[in-house]
Amino acid sequence: TAKIIDGKGIAEGIRSRIASEVSRMKELIGQVPSLAVILVGQRRDSQTYVRNKIMASEEVGIKFKMISLPENCSECEVCNALCSFNEDPSIHGILVQLPLPQSEQHLDETKILNVISLEKDVDGFHPLNIGNLAMQGMEPLFIPCTPKGCIELLLQSGVEIMGKNAVVIGRSNIVGLPTSLLLQRHHATVTILHAFTKNPEKIAREADILVAAAGVPNLVRGSWLKPGAVIVDVGTNPVEDVKSEHGYRLIGDVRFKEATKIASVISPVPGGVGPMTVAMLLYNTLESAKRAFNFT
Ligand code: NAD
Repeated sequence: TAKIIDGKGIAEGIRSRIASEVSRMKELIGQVPSLAVILVGQRRDSQTYVRNKIMASEEVGIKFKMISLPENCSECEVCNALCSFNEDPSIHGILVQLPLPQSEQHLDETKILNVISLEKDVDGFHPLNIGNLAMQGMEPLFIPCTPKGCIELLLQSGVEIMGKNAVVIGRSNIVGLPTSLLLQRHHATVTILHAFTKNPEKIAREADILVAAAGVPNLVRGSWLKPGAVIVDVGTNPVEDVKSEHGYRLIGDVRFKEATKIASVISPVPGGVGPMTVAMLLYNTLESAKRAFNFT
């Protein structure tokens, strides 16, 4: 049976290293990193994600600032809030919690992400950061947190990426696309599957490394897997569960039980990529503050 990656444990290790770096910074220059978040609307899941980010930041000594805007706010209001954070030298990281609400007042996501200062784009979603990630010879200032978390899980689990066939299911700007770019940077041969792909099962079966980020619960069956494959399940899909505290629980895109019989290594949901995403956000914020203070 497959080895199960302990994403929670790996993320804890990263967070504790960040905490000691933050206290070293405080001791030596009397400064700490600070992160600003803009939350638009009242989505329950977004509120939970933001709450987790606040708690994780405070735990490692990173300051946190949040602006909540109503669902019907204008694009201009969001951009003004972003501009005030851009200009504030005491802020090192800025993020807009996605997805933005689909209200009557249309908020153009690309336009909004474009306003965030490149030096503070700790989510790594600014078009220039993504563009630099895609180009050889260029280095993005920030790498998106979930994709970076996926690669970090592979590296810390001793998985070799170079020369391997990697298949990424999903091509979104925030997960699938940057993950495929990162895998290429690590010299994998990368194939991307998406909603229009014909016969995905056949292509998935070629994967030495399979990253599932479609957001479709139980999409990947055991029959999709090459024996010995390494699987990173990014899918975080709520399914009804009357027995659990909130009436639902989270499952991945991969049928976990079937997969553990065929794969060699697998990251579970929950407890795999999820905790890594937050750890990478803290990492990017610390890096940003170090750059701002010229602190090494
Ligand atoms: P998205 O809806 O923006 O993109 C989904 C992608 O999957 C699209 O490119 C689509 O073409 C593809 N797809 C959809 N159905 C498919 C199918 N049947 N076969 C192949 N491809 C298919 O979603 P997203 O924002 O990229 O998120 C994907 C999943 O990852 C979701 O479950 C989300 O909750 C989860 N997620 C987890 C974290 C984390 O920290 N663990 C972070 C972000 C997203």
